[in-house]
Amino acid sequence: MTLPDMHSAEAIPQEARAEIDRLLSSGDLFRYTAASDAPVTLLEAEFADLMGSKFALAVSSCSAALFLSLKALALPRDARVLIPGFTFAAVPSAVLHADCLPVLCEVGDNYRIDMDDFAAKLPSVQAVIVSHMRGHTSDMDAIKELCDAAGVPLIEDAAHSLGTTWNGAKIGTLGRIGCFSFQSYKMINAGEGGIMITDDADLVARAIIMSGAYEHNWKKHPVLQTAFATHQNQWPLYNLRMSNLSAAVIRPQLPHLARRVEDGRRNHDFVADLLDQSAHIHVPAPLAGEVRAPDSIQFNLVDVTDAQVATFVETAAANGVKVQVFGASTDNARAFWNWQFIPDLPELPKTRQMLMRACDVRLPVHLPTDTLKAIADVLLAAVADATEQRAA
Ligand SMILES: *Cc1c(COP(=O)(O)O)cnc(C)c1O
Repeated sequence: MTLPDMHSAEAIPQEARAEIDRLLSSGDLFRYTAASDAPVTLLEAEFADLMGSKFALAVSSCSAALFLSLKALALPRDARVLIPGFTFAAVPSAVLHADCLPVLCEVGDNYRIDMDDFAAKLPSVQAVIVSHMRGHTSDMDAIKELCDAAGVPLIEDAAHSLGTTWNGAKIGTLGRIGCFSFQSYKMINAGEGGIMITDDADLVARAIIMSGAYEHNWKKHPVLQTAFATHQNQWPLYNLRMSNLSAAVIRPQLPHLARRVEDGRRNHDFVADLLDQSAHIHVPAPLAGEVRAPDSIQFNLVDVTDAQVATFVETAAANGVKVQVFGASTDNARAFWNWQFIPDLPELPKTRQMLMRACDVRLPVHLPTDTLKAIADVLLAAVADATEQRAA
């Protein structure tokens, strides 16, 4: 069968059109023009409600949300921020952008933070960003406990984890701040966009001002009047606001989230069960307590050479399935050694070893079962082909 474009997205719900048409007719695209009920304001209220958080601030991207989170924590210049060695390049970039220094922590072959390395490095940092990379959740109980004991603020990069839960709690609500992405390859697609959530009124007041609520525009964030008074004119304006058009695209997708999460999990587990039949493929299990919300699958090639990895990727691609091995290209933005913009970039042997064998395949949540089966068949045939060549 012909496999679909794995970057194809679900259609934006029909309800978005009337609202976008209204915005186009009125030209009311800036979030702070309307006296009340601007689409961005409504999105913030709806998202905070969905997550059970007190406050939400919608911005231009998850990277912007991470940057503003660090700025709103009012860390000193050159503060050290612990991040996983397996994340997207935007994360160390946001740290540097916020005048802080990224400290990289080892990640194990189950894609989760190595807790020994985390505990060893925690005393040297002033903040932590945990990236739930591709939705994989590290041991959040241990991380929270260590951060709380050390008095170090915890930011969750939940860009790709919307809908995941940890012991029943929503990912993104466990730390002081949670940040999410609405970029097209995430669970809710606005092309671009991000949002941060927190229960800390003072912190969100600073973030709102810095996101570009200049003059008294913060008065349109209804719940925060007392927190703001002391912050007026005290913070730079970075102008990272969200447009009403983006909010109009996002809002009608929120009611579809639970269904997308369920479909994504079922699809992932279906493909994982098939792939696990190969002795050369291992799909790491979730940690106890984690209920995933995947729109992709990651697995490790086991007992193979670099040449066999390359053959596997080529054979799968020739049969219509694009596999990325995180560490096997010169430009992958999730391989830490490609973050050459970091001063004194360290070596992380464990993380490197994982990245050289860890494969990434998108599984858009709307794929039907026969397509998922066909994808698994291509991957299984490709790994058989690649490993038989070794025997020959
Ligand atoms: C997508 C992603 C980001 C960046 O999100 P943007 O909205 O594109 O800035 C950051 N971290 C992780 C883990 C991601 O998956």
